[in-house]
Amino acid sequence: MRSSTRYCVFCGTTPLTLEHNPPQWINEFCSDLDHGGTTTFFTDRSRTHPRGASHTVAATAGRVVCGRCNNGWMSNLENAVKPVLGPMTQGHGTRLTKERQGVLAEWLIKSSLVHAAVTSWQNTTRFGAAFARFHELRDAILPWFVFVAAHGGKETEYTRQYFASYLEGSSKEQRQFPAYAYAIVIGHFVGAVTYSGDVTFPVPPPPLERIAPARAVFIWPRGRYMTLQDIEVLGTGPSAEEFAGLLR
Ligand SMILES: [Zn+2]
Repeated sequence: MRSSTRYCVFCGTTPLTLEHNPPQWINEFCSDLDHGGTTTFFTDRSRTHPRGASHTVAATAGRVVCGRCNNGWMSNLENAVKPVLGPMTQGHGTRLTKERQGVLAEWLIKSSLVHAAVTSWQNTTRFGAAFARFHELRDAILPWFVFVAAHGGKETEYTRQYFASYLEGSSKEQRQFPAYAYAIVIGHFVGAVTYSGDVTFPVPPPPLERIAPARAVFIWPRGRYMTLQDIEVLGTGPSAEEFAGLLR
């Protein structure tokens, strides 16, 4: 790939500023925790035939957004999520109202997109529609699904992202469309995001609970604690039945 001038992945302007993902305020809550890690998988596969995978260790900071976005709506989003996410990283029981589910989901989707761009600039083209859609509507909307759970350990930050291309149709007219699954562990908090127009992209298993599209109020954490091994096997999205039900 030839390099060229880079523009903000959200609004398309310049110049770009350094973005930390997750943001540095997380350290206020997690200074006593173990260190984490990042794994990113790139996989291209049809519905039935995996075509191989590779993985890289991704950077956690990069110049992918402009100052206006970084200091504007993204800063506002950090301020909105901090009082909800901060206590969750410490394992404090939290009443997840629809409003809190919404802000967590929006922040997790933002984080998944920034991580995708930082991992590989090619993802800004590959997932161009996702970046544009999020910037325009700035909300947790289909085809994104967002889930939360609790982690029994205490990672400072552990991120896993999985990219896939699914083939739609059966012959020469096969059209590829991109899908991804993103999981982040910060302290005791686990968040997961899936993005896929493919209804066969599988569903994250319990104890992950969906928060977007929003659910009735519930108290987090609920169900068993997840291990990093659980999170490693995430590669997932909604079932065809669930997707159809949600669209109704
Ligand atoms: Zn921007």
